[in-house]
This record gives sequence, structure tokens and C-alpha cells, in this order.
Amino acid sequence: MKLKDKTAFITGAGHGIGRDIAIRMASEKAMVAVTDRDLALAEETVKIIRANGGSAEAFHLDVTDAPAIKSLIAKILKESGKIDILVNNAGGGWNGPIWEYDEEKWNRTISLSLTSVFLCTLSVVKSMMENKFGRIINISSVVGVSGKKHRSAYCAAKGGIISMTKTWAMELAPFGITANCISPGAIASYEHMKWEEGCWMGRSGKPEDIGGAALFLASSEASFITGQNIVIDGGRTLGLKGDS
Ligand code: NAD
Repeated sequence: MKLKDKTAFITGAGHGIGRDIAIRMASEKAMVAVTDRDLALAEETVKIIRANGGSAEAFHLDVTDAPAIKSLIAKILKESGKIDILVNNAGGGWNGPIWEYDEEKWNRTISLSLTSVFLCTLSVVKSMMENKFGRIINISSVVGVSGKKHRSAYCAAKGGIISMTKTWAMELAPFGITANCISPGAIASYEHMKWEEGCWMGRSGKPEDIGGAALFLASSEASFITGQNIVIDGGRTLGLKGDS
């Protein structure tokens, strides 16, 4: 019952990491707004939550649609009175070397992976400030720190999320709001994905490896943690496996 009476709003919660976060938060008695670009997937997440006795509602939301973000968040704030926990999870983008980029590919990726985080937070933050409570949890990536070949816009977005989160932590602390990042390494969100190599834990990461940290950051146990970037990658970024 760690999140009793809390309302959580999660983007991209129809699959993978976002779905796991939604299920966990609902299992701790949060009321969860499960949002996704694919409404059928969001409804599937809600079905799982309700089957486990939790409380959730599915909403269509494409996080690249700025007016839709604004109106959905306004609607939920009107109906439920508050959003206590915001999980900016949806992200992704175009892959390819810098010489094959164009402005459209760049803008599309930044819109999905960085601007969306800014816009969702902007729509929620004033209400959190009034309530003197908020937990903002942003899903970045290890590549936001390290960079990765063929992913310049995605890496720029994920790196941007980390520094933006630190800034928000400083700005929002006086209002009882924490802002933190989780940076997953390679997580097998789909059955066919496998990434054991280079990982000290000797297995692929799974969405369930991320949800626990999100739940912790949302809980009262993490009320003194802000501006942090929690890397969850099975030790992958420690150094190459096999090096002495
Ligand atoms: P996933 O593909 O399993 O799920 C993503 C969900 O987001 C899907 O339900 C999809 O419909 C939804 N979505 C996609 N575009 C959207 C949009 N424009 N608006 C709203 N919803 C949208 O992905 P995942 O692996 O769970 O990744 C979730 C987050 O974790 C992303 O931000 C991703 O960048 C980050 N991440 C993933 C990994 C990994 O290895 N899987 C590693 C580091 C970071």
C-alpha cells in the first residue's frame, strides 16, 4: 500500500517498461492513468491491473501531440483533482549515422524522446506545486551518458532528460517535488531481444528490472532522493566483461 491515495500518470504504459511500472504502482494501490499511443495496448495493461484488483484507466495519448498532452492532463486533473506521480516513459526515435540524418528525423526523435518529457511535466507541475507534493520520474537511458553509434538524436534527447531532471530537482524541491531519472541499459522489452554479452549479470535486462526502482522513487522511502540518475544495466557500463 505504498502509493495509497496517489494518482499516477504514465506515458507509453501499454508495453514494456511503462507497463511494468503501471502494474507495480497499481499493485501498491495507486490509481493509474495508463496512457499510450496505442489505446489497445493501454487497455491490455489496464486489464492486467484490474485482474489483480488494482485501479487504472486507459487513455489514448501520443506524446508528440502537444495539444493532446495538455487537454488529457487537464481532464485528469479536473476529474481526479491531482496527479501525484508523473512517469515520463515513452521514448524512441530514428537510428542511423549522422550523415544520413535530416532535420525531420532529428525533430521527430527530439519530439518523442525529449520535448514530450518537457510538455507532460509542464502540464502537471503547477498542480503539483499547489499540492506541495510530486514525484517526477523520467526514463532516460545509459546512452544518454555514454552516447551510442547511430543514435545521435536519441542520445541527445536522453542526455537532455538527465540534465533537465537535475534542473527540475533544484527548482521544485521547495514545493515538495522530487525529480529523478532511471537510465536502463539494454532491456529485452520483446521476446526476441537478447543481450547477455557484455553484461556482468549474464542475462538480458527485463522490464521488471526497472519497475521496482520507479516504485521506490515514487514511494515515501525516496522522499529525500532528488536529481539523481539511477543506472540499471546489470553492470554493463562498469567496463567490458573479461577485462582485468
Ligand atoms: P516498448 O517498445 O516496449 O514500449 C513502448 C511503449 O510506448 C509502447 O506501448 C508504444 O506504443 C508506446 N509509444 C511509442 N511511441 C509513443 C508515442 N509517440 N506516444 C505515446 N506512446 C508511445 O519500449 P520500452 O523498451 O519499454 O522503452 C520504454 C522507455 O525506456 C523508452 O523511453 C526507451 O527509450 C527507454 N529505454 C529502453 C531501453 C531498452 O533497452 N528497452 C533502454 C534504455 C531506455
